[in-house]
Amino acid sequence: MNMTTSFALFLYFYLVNTGLFINNEFVAGNNTIETINPATGKVITSVQAAGSQQVNTAVEAAHKAFHGGWKTSTPRNRARLMHKLADLVERDVNDLAHLETLDNGKPLRNAQRDIIDVSNYIRYFAGFCDKLHGKVIDTQGKLSYTVHEPIGVCGAIIPWNFPIVMLIWKVAPAICTGNTIVVKTSEMTPLSALKFAALVKEAGFAPGVINIITGYGHIAGDSLARHMKCDKIAFTGSVNVGRAIMKAAAESNLKKITLELGGKSPNIIFDDVENLDEAVFWSRFGIFYNAGQMCFAGSRIYVQEGIYDEFVKKFEKLVLSGKVGCPFDKSTFQGPQISETHLNRIMSYIDIGKKEGATCHLGGKRVNNNGGYFMEPTVFTDVKPDMRIMREEIFGPVVVICKFKDTKDVIKQANDTIFGLAASVFTSNITRAVTVSNALEAGSVWVNCTSIVTENSPFGGYKQSGIGRENSEYALANYTQIKAVKINLNSKL
Ligand code: NAD
Ligand code: MN
Repeated sequence: MNMTTSFALFLYFYLVNTGLFINNEFVAGNNTIETINPATGKVITSVQAAGSQQVNTAVEAAHKAFHGGWKTSTPRNRARLMHKLADLVERDVNDLAHLETLDNGKPLRNAQRDIIDVSNYIRYFAGFCDKLHGKVIDTQGKLSYTVHEPIGVCGAIIPWNFPIVMLIWKVAPAICTGNTIVVKTSEMTPLSALKFAALVKEAGFAPGVINIITGYGHIAGDSLARHMKCDKIAFTGSVNVGRAIMKAAAESNLKKITLELGGKSPNIIFDDVENLDEAVFWSRFGIFYNAGQMCFAGSRIYVQEGIYDEFVKKFEKLVLSGKVGCPFDKSTFQGPQISETHLNRIMSYIDIGKKEGATCHLGGKRVNNNGGYFMEPTVFTDVKPDMRIMREEIFGPVVVICKFKDTKDVIKQANDTIFGLAASVFTSNITRAVTVSNALEAGSVWVNCTSIVTENSPFGGYKQSGIGRENSEYALANYTQIKAVKINLNSKL
């Protein structure tokens, strides 16, 4: 399907309501935002932009829904609604995937995978509704027990790289534990979330339990982060905005905060790898999937000196085989970057890398295609530890490849970063795999693979990559507060 056809299909079939989804109704905002198809640079449609007034309405709706029944709803009821929502997501997988591709530019096949993930996440967390157990503790003759209670109104502020997946990472754990939620989508990618909002209503959730608003970060996002009745913010995005959100929380009601921020993840290839082709396959996937726009991207590849030349040769060949182009085309590996601004930012890093004296080994140029924001997958070699392309997150299809001598040397280099989101190690030696995994300062370590993120395994960052964990049972701690009840059993028998 070409871009013109898909645009027409969007208008006729998807029928996305572009209002703010508050209290199960689509309502008007303060003004509008145009959302752009990054594969053509053309406007798809306009959505509403929430001002602080509408943020307030949404938070009040969530507050009322929390106290009006969701907090005390039965686990079975919550689970049943969540499974119904997952059914609807599965029913509409194609519409949702097409919208995601149109709005974000990711290849359709990958968008379909994202939507299936969304239903997996909902079902996984639905299973926890009736498993939120506390403990019984005998405290010196008093009976104590703990209750895991919801926090209240949760706010979620999400990015554009995995729009609907980032939404569900927050919505699913929040509602299974009995919280209500207000989600603010990225201004760049509002469409899949709005389609999802209609499914929330269809599934039968009470008004106000799940609210989804579109709008700008410094207006709608900031109002949510400062709202006195918003009890928690779960944020995914850049480090700087993460800081702003902590500050907003500190200056308002000290709301609880979880942050999933940036990364500069190392990917280490030892010369004892059993299959170099597999290491090459995973390394390429680890940086160039989603056009490199991944917080956990393996953007620093360290190859042991004996196999460096061979690795680079094979890596280059595989990278060159991937088609950059229309995301609706089945043969496309890499779609466009999210926006003109973001593409320019990535290109500026390519200039910086060259000026700093690194070798732009492969790529480095913009690809002119149909007005979209495409660029070549780019590989830098001859890099030094203090170069900006080694230290800063580029968030695009740009990787640096370095040489290392031995384990001690590579651990030092790998940990020489302010980030700590993820890391990978390739080796056939189990002792080395475990030793290096233990030494790496990162929230996720992948051995002989990259980028494996699942609903039942925790995800989050060390150091400046974030605070708290999402996914898995660990995520529940960020959506509940513990109450300790103590009962005096000192009856006079
Ligand atoms: P961003 O920080 O610019 O925006 C993220 C969200 O915050 C958007 O919804 C935006 O509208 C909102 N926002 C912006 N300013 C705000 C403010 N002052 N107050 C409240 N909200 C505000 O990030 P982005 O460009 O959308 O996404 C890219 C970044 O996200 C990268 O740095 C990447 O590493 C990070 N990221 C991290 C993860 C993770 O799980 N750790 C996942 C995806 C992306
Ligand atoms: Mn868009």
